[in-house]
Amino acid sequence: MQFKDLHLNKPILKAISESKYELATPVQEKTIPFVLDKKDLIATAQTGTGKTAAFALPILQLLFDKQDSGKKVKKIKALVISPTRELAIQIEESFKTYGKYTNLKSTVLFGGTSIEPQKEILKKGVDILIATPGRLLDLHKQDCVNLDYIETLVLDEADLMLDMGFINDVKKIERLCKKEKQVLLFSATMPSKVVELANTILKNPVTVDVTPKSSAAESVNQSLYYVPKTKKMELCLYLLRNNVKGDILIFRRTKFGVKKLEKMLRKNGYKADSIHGDKTQSAREEALNKFKNKQVSILIATDVASRGIDIDNLDAVINFDIPNVPETYVHRIGRTGRAGNEGNSYSFCAADEKTYILTIEKLIGKSIPVETEHPFLLDPNAKPEVYIKRGSNTKKGRKSAASKKNKKRWY
Ligand code: AMP
Repeated sequence: MQFKDLHLNKPILKAISESKYELATPVQEKTIPFVLDKKDLIATAQTGTGKTAAFALPILQLLFDKQDSGKKVKKIKALVISPTRELAIQIEESFKTYGKYTNLKSTVLFGGTSIEPQKEILKKGVDILIATPGRLLDLHKQDCVNLDYIETLVLDEADLMLDMGFINDVKKIERLCKKEKQVLLFSATMPSKVVELANTILKNPVTVDVTPKSSAAESVNQSLYYVPKTKKMELCLYLLRNNVKGDILIFRRTKFGVKKLEKMLRKNGYKADSIHGDKTQSAREEALNKFKNKQVSILIATDVASRGIDIDNLDAVINFDIPNVPETYVHRIGRTGRAGNEGNSYSFCAADEKTYILTIEKLIGKSIPVETEHPFLLDPNAKPEVYIKRGSNTKKGRKSAASKKNKKRWY
């Protein structure tokens, strides 16, 4: 479908044609008419499907028709909540691109950077606000954000938002907005907790589902390596020396794992960088840019830190750890083999991860070819290595409530 058939107005169509988009993607085709019709909506769509434009374009169109007159301070009428800073920045860039020929103003708020410049921008007034939950609530507490005029609220990557523990913040933000509003919820996966959230804050929503459940998995050459946990580093080096070349994204489950692998790869002469929850915003951006500019060829990331980031044309994805959520596997390998290119994925499975493979294979509807030509084969009868925590067994030895509060992020 062409964008002009979606009843978008000229300034927006002009910006779209400058972006060189020829046709609307399926999620755009299905979503835009409902958003223009002011319906609440739940969409299952992953990064890369064009979901940002699916909500940004109709929001711009709705706001374009009722802009504040030039002299008045603009009021925030659309609010997009995003779980990560990177994603929030990307969304705001999209609003800026698509809204280039409108007078609508947008800004982005996220933590980890100075709050004062953000206050200054808010004072001048914006139409569209993109924010991560914590910083938004901070600024609201300080009376710098007025959510009384919100007409459309977007919750992007809702599943990740809940995984990161933002459920109460999201509910609070929804209550701070005016009652009569349109709510749009986008999520890469639709676990029951997301459905529950949707049931509590959306009214008679329409649903849109464009999950490419197995299509991503079909365009990628997948291989599975059974390997003891302790030999994964060696297997990784072996593959980098012999099989895997080009731009490579390596996924690990925790930031501790990411750091350890980065150190080891650098020690072995590889140009590698990483993105994880312990890095500052600018350090993450720097790592991402180095990868995009080909100063480094290996980027190591946690799922959470890399979610929503637009990294295309990857030659290979390595699943150093197997994800426990099967959709995450499809999501990860979908980053290679994009736009008709052939991609490759290599998954390292230790004895304790075998059950994850079964659920992944059930989701993608086929078994992943097993590679047996490598020097670190896992004994098929190997039992999962159980990590026994040492320390006191008594109640006294348990962590206090206070120390639990200081719990560090793992992503
Ligand atoms: P998203 O799923 O929103 O992260 O978008 C993924 C990428 O697709 C972004 O780089 C967009 O610029 C691009 N994109 C969005 N809509 C279209 C379209 N209709 N045609 C071509 N590219 C698009």
